[in-house]
Amino acid sequence: MKQAHYDLVILGSGSTAFAAALRAQEHGKTSVMTEERATGGTCVNRGCLPSKNLIEAAKIIHDARHPRYPGLTPAELGLDFRKLIEQKDEVIHGYRKKKYESLVGGQFTIEKGHVEFVDDHSIQVDGKRITGGRILIATGSRPVIPDIDGLRDVPFLTSDLLTNDDEPMEMRELPRSLILLGGGYIALELGQMFRRFGVEVTILQRSAQLLAHGYEPEVGEVIGEVFEKEGVRVLTSTSVRSVRQDGAEVVVTIQSVDKTRELRAEKLLVSTGRQPNSDKIAIKKSGVAFGKHGQVHVDEFLRTNVPHIFAAGDVIGREVNSQMATPVGSQDGGIAADNAFASGELRRVNHRVIPRTIFTDPQIATVGMTEDEAIAAGHDCWCNTVPMSLVPRAGAIRDTAGMIKMVADAGTEEVLGVSMVGNSAGEVIHEAAMAMRFRAKIRDFIDLLHVYPTMAEALKIAAISRFKDPAKLSCCAE
Ligand SMILES: Cc1cc2nc3c(=O)[nH]c(=O)nc-3n(C[C@H](O)[C@H](O)[C@H](O)COP(=O)(O)OP(=O)(O)OC[C@H]3O[C@@H](n4cnc5c(N)ncnc54)[C@H](O)[C@@H]3O)c2cc1C
Repeated sequence: MKQAHYDLVILGSGSTAFAAALRAQEHGKTSVMTEERATGGTCVNRGCLPSKNLIEAAKIIHDARHPRYPGLTPAELGLDFRKLIEQKDEVIHGYRKKKYESLVGGQFTIEKGHVEFVDDHSIQVDGKRITGGRILIATGSRPVIPDIDGLRDVPFLTSDLLTNDDEPMEMRELPRSLILLGGGYIALELGQMFRRFGVEVTILQRSAQLLAHGYEPEVGEVIGEVFEKEGVRVLTSTSVRSVRQDGAEVVVTIQSVDKTRELRAEKLLVSTGRQPNSDKIAIKKSGVAFGKHGQVHVDEFLRTNVPHIFAAGDVIGREVNSQMATPVGSQDGGIAADNAFASGELRRVNHRVIPRTIFTDPQIATVGMTEDEAIAAGHDCWCNTVPMSLVPRAGAIRDTAGMIKMVADAGTEEVLGVSMVGNSAGEVIHEAAMAMRFRAKIRDFIDLLHVYPTMAEALKIAAISRFKDPAKLSCCAE
């Protein structure tokens, strides 16, 4: 049996793993990544990149069909879905080559195959044994498959339908109709996208509204209204009893309030969350501790309970207030590598300010605490919601859907969180994030001169609403 030794052995080859390998190289250390699917992991191959590519194409179709300006004639753009998928694959291949594959070499390499621990210093990749001075677990996450009667006996889709041509589950034909289980961010992004491609879409959501957990209630309400207008059917307070195949259709039996009924569609997409990939790596042989959702336990230095083994990225779940998002893994992969080879002080993770965006249209962007979270954390809370219609740019470009909510400590006036639904919310949220990084107060958002007319003025207007009625402002006055 061949055996190799590296300074750092990394389980996985996603953005977290690459960040760690590059940082190890900067420390003059050798490393090896391991991967059983496409190099680069979820984000580039079947997550962020393909979804955002196709979501934008769907927006072009929607905007042509529904121009916001009187005087512009609606147009129906032709759709060749196979070609659209081909261009998506081209974008992925190009990006994967440039940002991942071409970086491999020199002091770090990649072993393809299934990886498992042998002991706390060694792994095997398809039988090949590799040892490491330090080890990083960065095996990411995968879709949760809920335990629903009949589900395992019907062909169903997951977000892996976005994958590229290395894997067979890529969707190349548009279904006529689609039922989505789950009302989280992936379901919202994909649900709206498929609707805009002309698919009949039904979202089944167990809670009373979309984005029921971890978001301001106003966010779910606003996006629910937008979806209704676009013809996405959202069934809330609905649980799925069973699933079966009937000819070319999937039949889903649902229960809402006291009624049981059947829904039919050509395809079923399961999007009920993601779980850390810690259960297929023989983790017990390493002695590393993990939680009941599979999340690898780490401290704020990303150390596991085994001193030379670190973990970062999706595989740590919500440990140390982390979130499953590419920039979090990329930053933490570097921190883990720094700490693995540190001779002095260790670097702490910084998960206090993590801006997030859901790429629906309008976009949903959040950073920091919600009102409920601020109150639960003991803050005497000031918070207010302002409709996008008060933002001059939104009015000027006839795109007034949405709102912004600011959460602050009423005593210190420090801004603790912002949630925005609106045009360009994913860009605007960075101002809030940077401000919160430096513990800005409500007044700082007011005092900063904002470019007029921009969507970022939404932050200033929300802050002004602490002191006066923003509906009575003139132009960009304070
Ligand atoms: C549909 C979708 C859209 C998303 N959109 C966004 C977005 O817009 N913005 C954003 O920030 N985040 C987004 N995310 C989340 C983002 O993709 C993840 O947070 C990120 O990719 C996690 O990186 P990672 O390196 O921790 O894990 P991954 O990228 O998942 O890498 C882990 C790798 O380890 C491999 N692996 C696991 N177990 C084994 C094993 N036993 N043997 C060999 N290899 C193994 C896996 O195959 C995988 O490639 C999205 C995710 C999805 C699914």
